[in-house]
Amino acid sequence: MAARKVLILEDESSIRSFVVINLKRAGYLPVEAETAAEAFAQMKRNPDIRVALLDIMLPDEGIDGFEVCRRLRAADEKLGIIMLTARTQEMDKVTGLMTGADDYVTKPFSPAELTARVDALYRRVGGDADADSGIIIRDPFTLNTRNRTLTKNSVRIKLTQVEYGVVKMFMENPGRALSREEILSTVWGNDTDAEIKIVDVNVRRLRMKLEDDPQNPAFITTVWGYGYKWGY
Ligand code: CA
Repeated sequence: MAARKVLILEDESSIRSFVVINLKRAGYLPVEAETAAEAFAQMKRNPDIRVALLDIMLPDEGIDGFEVCRRLRAADEKLGIIMLTARTQEMDKVTGLMTGADDYVTKPFSPAELTARVDALYRRVGGDADADSGIIIRDPFTLNTRNRTLTKNSVRIKLTQVEYGVVKMFMENPGRALSREEILSTVWGNDTDAEIKIVDVNVRRLRMKLEDDPQNPAFITTVWGYGYKWGY
């Protein structure tokens, strides 16, 4: 999985390192900036940053965190933005949200509060889904999780939504034996009334679509008495 990058713009080094340490602990890769100018440069260098934490009072002349927020939002509407507000005035919160922020955290904040907000926003902006660019390649197949399409040697293979779910699970777990129960609960949901046989039916259909020789599958192989596996 690609690094989960988060920009942290904060001129006070003690607060910045506090945030950095806690983001690292929570599995993020913090990208630091001390000034607004540095923040813009970091965003340019790291286009895969999905969430930005912005302090409001900055040393830069004529630009504060709200203005940074406004510019980042104008450049990327999908970026998740959290304002770090020092003051508790309603005004700051309103201004932040008006300039395009998604959320705000009031200083002083606890590590748990900070990471909970970042986690929630990261999920909401779909950071985890496209952390790997949304493309899974298992030669000769390419799965695009953004538009939910599968190609084999660049030729599109039409799939039902359920077949897509099954093949995605296989391609995400190459070489791992997946039990039929696991496939059923992942693709159909935990509270499904569907019978386990539906997994076999979909695998059979998928083999017709994917395999060179469906009678002797090379991609979706059977793990006897257990389930299936991608490859050998
Ligand atoms: Ca500051």
